[in-house]
Amino acid sequence: MDHDDLRDWSKRAADWGHAYHAGLRDRPVRARTKPGEIAAQLPGTAPEEPEDMETVFADFERIVPPGLTHWQHPRFFAYFPANAAPASMLAEQLANTIAAQGMLWQTSPAVTEVEQVMMAWLRDALGLAEHFTGTIHDSATTATLSAVLTMRERALDWAGLRAGLSGAPRLRLYASAETHSSVDKAARIAGIGQENLVKVPTDSTNAMKPGALAGAIRADQAAGHLPIGVVLCAGGTSIGAFDGIADCLAIARAEGLYSHVDAAWAGSAMICPEFRPLWAGVDGADSIVFNPHKWLGAQFDCSVQFLADPTPQVRTLGLRPTYLETIGEEEITNFNEWTVPLGRRFRALKLWFLLRAYGLSGLRQRIRNHVAWSRELCEVIRAMDGVEIVTEPSLSLFTFALTEGDAATEALLARINDDGRVYLTQTRAGGRFVIRVQVGQFDCSRDDVMCVAAVLREMLG
Ligand SMILES: *Cc1c(COP(=O)(O)O)cnc(C)c1O
Repeated sequence: MDHDDLRDWSKRAADWGHAYHAGLRDRPVRARTKPGEIAAQLPGTAPEEPEDMETVFADFERIVPPGLTHWQHPRFFAYFPANAAPASMLAEQLANTIAAQGMLWQTSPAVTEVEQVMMAWLRDALGLAEHFTGTIHDSATTATLSAVLTMRERALDWAGLRAGLSGAPRLRLYASAETHSSVDKAARIAGIGQENLVKVPTDSTNAMKPGALAGAIRADQAAGHLPIGVVLCAGGTSIGAFDGIADCLAIARAEGLYSHVDAAWAGSAMICPEFRPLWAGVDGADSIVFNPHKWLGAQFDCSVQFLADPTPQVRTLGLRPTYLETIGEEEITNFNEWTVPLGRRFRALKLWFLLRAYGLSGLRQRIRNHVAWSRELCEVIRAMDGVEIVTEPSLSLFTFALTEGDAATEALLARINDDGRVYLTQTRAGGRFVIRVQVGQFDCSRDDVMCVAAVLREMLG
């Protein structure tokens, strides 16, 4: 295959993609594949001789789609969305075909400079203060890891990078039980240890108790441990919990601790001013992460980290061996120094296309619809016999359960997902097994959302 063939195959792929998306509502949302079923259709070894692309493509069409859960299906209400707006897919095609490495400004100035401008566009779109600058990571997990490594090194005055952690005091990190498991992962792999991630108690609204945070920090100080930072939850994955950002940040600041706000899902909603009270005070954070690749519509992967001051993170993650020096340039940003990986894809291009193709008003309208439809569906479900709303809508996420108990709720979820018209997933709330509903797929309509009620009525009827 050469570049002439690629031109023809790209057109074939575009036509295939168009038909795939047009036919999504006719497919079951969740894959019906049995474990091993797809692998069994592939040969055990790579081909010795080149194969005809016609055969490769035919195998793709035959084997792959039946093994997919369709994340762009308009009735995908599971997990959180991984939206890929058509304009962002187009930008991804262009980024793929350019295939540039944006590790240094010099390795493709456009990659760095479009990213810098997009970070400013998004900061302003979310209503964040002007002092924030940002960068793009592959995932919120990496952004949070970067923030936690920065907390660690800042607390150790950057001695850990050179000497390791063996002589260091016990490092302590604070978050509530509502924060995502990526915080646990960061504590594990940053050498802090999961036992030193203090899960601060929450109140009846699932928000971290500021007094408990202050108490935990003081107890650790008294015990000779070294508090390093606080991770706050702005839209938790399980039930959409929000910490009281302003109060908790005030405590972090008073104790000299670095702060990171995880708004991976809910950050997208902050393009709508009416939702910003949910994270009031966020301008006081040192670091904020949000995923345009979830609700906003920028194809995975695209996770944005805003930093009040990039210096401590660059001091933590930046390395400049001679082969990465750019001679004669002082006033430039080399984004690899802000992130864990060296290599960087041209992810900003899809933000540029997305924001221009739909406009902030178009993106806001989608999010407002999702929130309104989710609340409407919640009321319909609340009125059903034998069903209970367990957690009220947080933006577009709520949970419900059968009054009969966990086993019945679990069986209901299995029936809903085997049916295939909609896809929902589970979590635990107050110790109960509950079914999550999040509305957020880019192309979903009110009818798609109400389909959840129709399916439920059939199954309960
Ligand atoms: C999805 C999610 C994450 C992890 O996101 P990745 O980009 O997949 O690493 C972290 N925090 C919250 C609140 C999330 O919803």
